[in-house]
Amino acid sequence: MNDQRSVARGSSAAPSILVVEDESALGLLLSYNLEAEGYTVERAERGDEAELRLAERAPDLVILDWMLPGVSGLEICRRLRAREATRSLPVIMLTARGEEGERVRGLSVGADDYVVKPFSVPELMARVRALLRRARPERIANRLAAGDLDLDRETHRVRRGGREVHLGPTEFRLLEYLMERPGRVFSRSQLLDGVWGLSVEIDERTVDVHVGRLRKALSRGRERDPVRTVRGAGYAFDETFGKV
Ligand code: CA
Repeated sequence: MNDQRSVARGSSAAPSILVVEDESALGLLLSYNLEAEGYTVERAERGDEAELRLAERAPDLVILDWMLPGVSGLEICRRLRAREATRSLPVIMLTARGEEGERVRGLSVGADDYVVKPFSVPELMARVRALLRRARPERIANRLAAGDLDLDRETHRVRRGGREVHLGPTEFRLLEYLMERPGRVFSRSQLLDGVWGLSVEIDERTVDVHVGRLRKALSRGRERDPVRTVRGAGYAFDETFGKV
């Protein structure tokens, strides 16, 4: 699934949008219009399916129906906001007429915008554009670079100097996660949450194992280690890497 996704994301520099809507016709209509605007679109028709996808890789924006089989849109939004990795992920909630009284609840769990069905597609498109503009630009950047290290989210390639660094999928996500926030120290449990995803029951020492693998792949000989261990706190991407 990761591979399929990276291929889809690799087709352009387009922001990716996850449409979660159990009414197939509406979901199709939205994805058709979003793709016409140049976005990369994925769809889910069940709440639990949406959660699996979101745990795997966060898109740049989510359009989330309120009433869904599996897990409700409201609950998904609440869980997205509880996770460090998706706290600022832009969310537009959709709801049927008659559920407008729930608007306050939707906004209280952290939806960025709220649209009542039936809505005009051009209006929704305008809101998507506005939200993406407001979102942090590094979410949309395709490349993360520091010093001689370069990570390409489209091709999932990492290069150091002239050579290619071969990373497993977990090490790739770990590096991507750390590079997105240089200097910031993450505890092991924050990394498990942000990199491995919600509701995983994994020993925190697993993080150490993967950090070890990442370091081994990144640095050869006397090359400087870009990952900093902060005793008693966790790990960070060294913000001075490539600068001193
Ligand atoms: Ca629905």
